[in-house]
Amino acid sequence: MSDTIISVTGLTKAFSRGAKAVNDVTLAVERGETLGIVGESGSGKSTLLRMILRLIRPTAGTVAIDGRDVWGASGSDLKGVRRGMQAIFQDPASSFNPRQSIGAILAAPLEVHSIGDKAARIRMIGEALERVGLPAATVTRFPHQLSGGQRQRVAIARAVIMKPAVVLADEPTSALDVSVQAQVLKLFSEIKRDLNLTSVFVSHNLAVIRQVSDRVAVMRLGEIIELDTADRIFASPRNDYTRALIDALPDPFRHFHSFKKPETGP
Ligand code: ADP
Ligand code: MG
Repeated sequence: MSDTIISVTGLTKAFSRGAKAVNDVTLAVERGETLGIVGESGSGKSTLLRMILRLIRPTAGTVAIDGRDVWGASGSDLKGVRRGMQAIFQDPASSFNPRQSIGAILAAPLEVHSIGDKAARIRMIGEALERVGLPAATVTRFPHQLSGGQRQRVAIARAVIMKPAVVLADEPTSALDVSVQAQVLKLFSEIKRDLNLTSVFVSHNLAVIRQVSDRVAVMRLGEIIELDTADRIFASPRNDYTRALIDALPDPFRHFHSFKKPETGP
């Protein structure tokens, strides 16, 4: 039985000059699923994600999350929309207030949405840090005292502490060293499985997309040109452009059978 959590219909963005950054995109994401969106730089991935996140106003089209109209919502419905979707961006340093401790950064969304009393918030922050593999003492640290990988773990903690319906990630590992990138991807996959998260994961990197996605949408020039299960996209892409992207991967990633997804449990 299908249980659609994210529903995007005819979503379009025309910035004032140039071609449409996103052109008539329609897609659905089911509960517990990770949809990967891949495409070259400038193909419209971030614009699409930001329209879903209510950060860039669409020229046309609709977005619904868990049955709520994201752009039509107001009042308490809008609060529900905001609470239900959390974002992880490429560079958490720019979305963290450098003067706030990690404890304050993690407490902020709980305070905004009046979740729990002080004791409950402290407990939730401790649990969230543990979940992302950071020591409890991290609460007293400041963003600049952490490594890029640690900051991205805090960004993941901040997203999941809200128990959101969906997590939307835009190139969350693209600024990290390759070894750190692998650790953060593994963490993301584990948390997604443990919390049965529904997510959209944007990356220009097809190898990264392969690792986290159940289904994959390939974007080109603002349009989705192919959308299928990750297994089928990698084993037998129907689109020449998708095939060219796969052929451009470094050798260990190219051949479907030699690049297994990490174990994702039953
Ligand atoms: P991606 O995330 O795939 O790299 P973007 O969504 O950032 O792509 O950009 C898609 C297209 O929209 C690009 O041509 C980009 O130059 C253009 N674009 C993005 N943001 C703006 C903006 N604020 N104003 C004008 N054009 C923009
Ligand atoms: Mg982008």
